[in-house]
Order: sequence, then structure tokens, then C-alpha cells
Amino acid sequence: MGLADLHIHSVYSDGTATVEAILVHASAKSGLDVIAITDHDTLEGALKARELAAHFRVDVVPGMEISTNEGHLLALFLEKPVEPGLSFIETAQQVRRYGGLPFAPHPLSRLAPSIGAHRLRALVREHPKLLAGLEAENGALLYLGENAAAQRLRWDLGLAAIGGSDAHVLNEIGTAATLFAGNTSADLRRALERGEVTPLPAQRDARYIRRQLKHFALRYGLRIIQAAEGLLEEEPRLRWKRLDD
Ligand SMILES: [Zn+2]
Ligand SMILES: [Zn+2]
Repeated sequence: MGLADLHIHSVYSDGTATVEAILVHASAKSGLDVIAITDHDTLEGALKARELAAHFRVDVVPGMEISTNEGHLLALFLEKPVEPGLSFIETAQQVRRYGGLPFAPHPLSRLAPSIGAHRLRALVREHPKLLAGLEAENGALLYLGENAAAQRLRWDLGLAAIGGSDAHVLNEIGTAATLFAGNTSADLRRALERGEVTPLPAQRDARYIRRQLKHFALRYGLRIIQAAEGLLEEEPRLRWKRLDD
């Protein structure tokens, strides 16, 4: 199983770390296998990070957090920038056209511009295949209850769910992550397309993680829970605990 942080900001938008520093930190300290650089309304830093990724242990997914006129949209595996200011649906369609996967980040946040439960329900009803999922664990939320509510909404709507730190400084990287089968960005893409990923909050105990994994297993079968439990036992506190240092 691999771990990915799918929501990281760099100096290309309002983050404080350069993409080089993010690559060094994520490779040496985080234990993550894959990171996505997702700056506000620019793809530049993400493409640069991917260019440099060959020199680092972590794999890189280019992404972008696009400001739609209905809140943020998180695009992963994006190859061309999408302009801000369009509707959420138009933005998601453009992301799909460019080969990317559109997600609703922090969908229920009261502080970050977000689509909200009502709009998200309508959108999924009208365009069931458009969104690749929602972000059910965001590491930067002030109210953790908003993650719990996003989890409930995700099950309700039958959407895949991801986790990302929404890091704006280096040591926030990995404060939430996405668990997937494999360890490369190609494995991650496959897992995201099948919805076979599970969002993990950081700085919780192994019991909590195990419970999350069981939810995941209920949905996708026993084979995965055995692999996941194996991971916990072989690498207790796994690479996960190292995220704190
Ligand atoms: Zn945001
Ligand atoms: Zn963000």
C-alpha cells in the first residue's frame, strides 16, 4: 500500500516552501510515496515539481486548486491549466477534457471557499460521473467535524474520498493523506479511477486508522483489509508516525 498527500501548496501560490524544499522534505521526512502540488490557480509549480521528481524518492502528481465561482475545485493529474472563475461544473468538465481528475476539496468548510453539501448533492445527481470524488480528510481545517461530515456525505453520495494536508508550510505535509494499492503515481491514478482509496487523517492512533481501513474493506473486500492490516503490523505506526517530526 502507498501513501499520498494530494493537496500541497508551494510558493507558486500562497505556500511558503519552494517546490525543491517540498520534494526534499517529502522524500526525506514524510514517508509519503506520492505528493500532489496543487497551487491556487496555477499549474506552474506542479509541472516544475514533476520535472524534478526523477531526482527524488517521492513521485509527483501535477495538480491545481482552481477558484471556481462556487468555491475551490481540486484537480489532480492535470496537464494544462484551467482558468479560474468558471462555474464548478464547467471547471470540472474542463479538467476532464485535459485528462485530469476533479475533486471537491474541503466540501463542507465554512472558512475555505467550498461547494457545500446542497450543491454537491445536486451536482452528483445531474452529473453522476463528473467528479472523481471529494476530499474527506483535509489536514488544515479548523473544525475537524467538517471532515467527519464530509465522510458521511461521501458515503451518502457514493463518492470516492481522498485525504490531503492542504499544507502551506513544510511541516504540515502529510497531516492527512490517501492510502492506495501500489506506490507510484500510475498506481494512484488507477486506484482513484476505481474509487479504491481511503483518506487517512494524521496524528491519530493506529486503532483509528485500523477502523478507517475496516470501512474501506467493507466496501472493497477482505483482500484489501488483510493487506492493510499486514501493513500496520509489519510497520507499526508505519511511516505515518514519522510525519510528526
Ligand atoms: Zn481550498
Ligand atoms: Zn488548498
